[in-house]
Formats: sequence, C-alpha cells, structure tokens
Amino acid sequence: MLIIKKKGALATILDEHRRKGYSIGFVPTMGALHPGHLSLIQAAGVPNQVVVASIFVNPAQFNDPADFEKYPVTLGKDIELLEQSACDVLFLPSVAEIYPNGWKNEPLYNLGFLETVFEGPFRPGHFQGVCQVMEQLLRMVGPDHLYMGQKDYQQCMVVARLLELMNSSCVLHTCPTLREKDGLAMSSRNVRLSPADREAASAIFQALRFIRDRLQPGELSTILTASKEILTANRFKVDYLSIAHARSLAPVESWDGRQPLVALAAAFLHDVRLIDNMLITAASEPNAVNAVN
Ligand code: AMP
Repeated sequence: MLIIKKKGALATILDEHRRKGYSIGFVPTMGALHPGHLSLIQAAGVPNQVVVASIFVNPAQFNDPADFEKYPVTLGKDIELLEQSACDVLFLPSVAEIYPNGWKNEPLYNLGFLETVFEGPFRPGHFQGVCQVMEQLLRMVGPDHLYMGQKDYQQCMVVARLLELMNSSCVLHTCPTLREKDGLAMSSRNVRLSPADREAASAIFQALRFIRDRLQPGELSTILTASKEILTANRFKVDYLSIAHARSLAPVESWDGRQPLVALAAAFLHDVRLIDNMLITAASEPNAVNAVN
C-alpha cells in the first residue's frame, strides 16, 4: 500500500492507473478505523482495480470544537489495518493540503430541504463542511466509484446531491451498517463511551428495531413516543428519533402503508453523540439512498 500526503503525487500515481484503463474506488474516512470502514474498502475492492482510502479529520465539519479535539486518532493502527485490506493507496493529506486558502463558514452548496432536517438544525454548518472536504477529495482522487456507509444516511443523501451539483459521473454506493453483537452501530466515537454507557448504548438499535417491528399504517406518534422511552430509560438525551420518507427525508407523521420509510435517531450519552438509522419498510430496500440519485 502506498501512503501519499500530497495531491500532486496522488494525481501522478492515479493518472498512471487511469491510462491503463483501471477503475478507481474511493473510501473517505476520518480514521480511527473499525470493521465498518474496512467493509467499505472490501466493497470497493470488488469492482475496482484501484482502491484509494483517505484519512482526514475535517475541521470544517465539526460544529462543536470539543468534539473535534476529542476525535480519536489511531493512525499507526489504521495503517496496519489498511495494509491487510484491499486498499492500494492511502491518501493522508494535511489541513493545508486540503484547504490551502482555509475553509469557509458560509452556505456554499445549495442542499435545499436536506439541510433543514435531522442533523441539519442540530449541527449547523456540518453538511456544508462535509461538502467542502468531499469536493476537494473528489477533485483530488477523481474516483469512478465512491463508497459510504448507510450509518450516515443523511450524509449519503447530501453527497449524492453534491455529486449532482458537481456534475460528477462518480457512482455513489451506500453500504450496510456494521454493528456490534448487541446491535450498536460501529463508530469511531464508541471508544469514548464509559463501560456503563457502552452497555446502555445498544438502546438506540433497540428503539429503531421497536419501530420497524411494530410499524402499522396510520398515525406514527404512539410508536415514536414508546420508542423514545426506550432511549430515555437508558439515560439517553434525545436530539431526535423520527420516521421519514426514505428517499426525500421528509418527516412522515402518518404512514399510508406504501411510502418507503427510514427511522433516524441521534442522542447523547453524557457528551458522546451517537447517530443511527434503519430502513423500516421492505419497500425501501435495498439501497434506498442510491435511489435518490
Ligand atoms: P467516518 O470516519 O466516521 O467519517 O466514516 C467514514 C465512512 O465510514 C462513512 O462513509 C461512514 O458512513 C462509514 N461508516 C462509519 N461507521 C460505519 C459502520 N458501522 N458500518 C458501515 N460504514 C460505516
């Protein structure tokens, strides 16, 4: 595996591969890698001759400076894991390499409705920061295929929109969420949970499964109240636990029995914010996120 820090060197290597007609798959990450990330690399390795992963903790997407400072960094271990994976090139840029002119706290990308729901209001500027880094990375890597996790459902939709805004032909693949044995979605932030909070954390998965298993056409308020109680009983402070149309993310209060639905949750255990989601109707599977393209 090649480790490259500069965009010029990256372009030289990848141009060589492109001249040979090789297809390039790309997996952007913020490091502190876990099996969820590695499953994206594995997926990228199937149809592509070259797999590029990046590790870059993007300062532009942290609306909470404390979250940025506490973001886990495990570079040595990450490199070891990537060496054993299908990754061919690890791009490891500095902040100056990605943002030579700094980054902007302005709405540069028209994300429309997508930015007004769920993560949008709770993390002001977050998706603008995601788009800023993704635009730079996509221009530097120039992938044919991009692999991202359904764990960040709304982010996948935002990146699908960014690809549209960039007029890019890159294909976005939304890959399944890898979970711990008790159902907790794997996340770099999980290492920050205390043992007691780690035990409580699977309630987020239980709340989503409760919704999926008991969903009936009609008003959804009762099922949402009962599922929120699963979170609060486990000491979660809930930002949102909602049901939305799986393709538009428009909140759904009454289900007609046909709309494809996704349940989405974000909640704190002490100062650790966890997010998760579940496609809750068969009609929305598989790959509902890709269907927004
Ligand atoms: P991050 O490093 O957290 O920014 O995540 C990098 C990529 O890995 C994103 O596309 C995430 O959606 C994806 N990812 C994070 N956690 C998981 C998981 N548990 N299963 C699958 N993909 C994941």
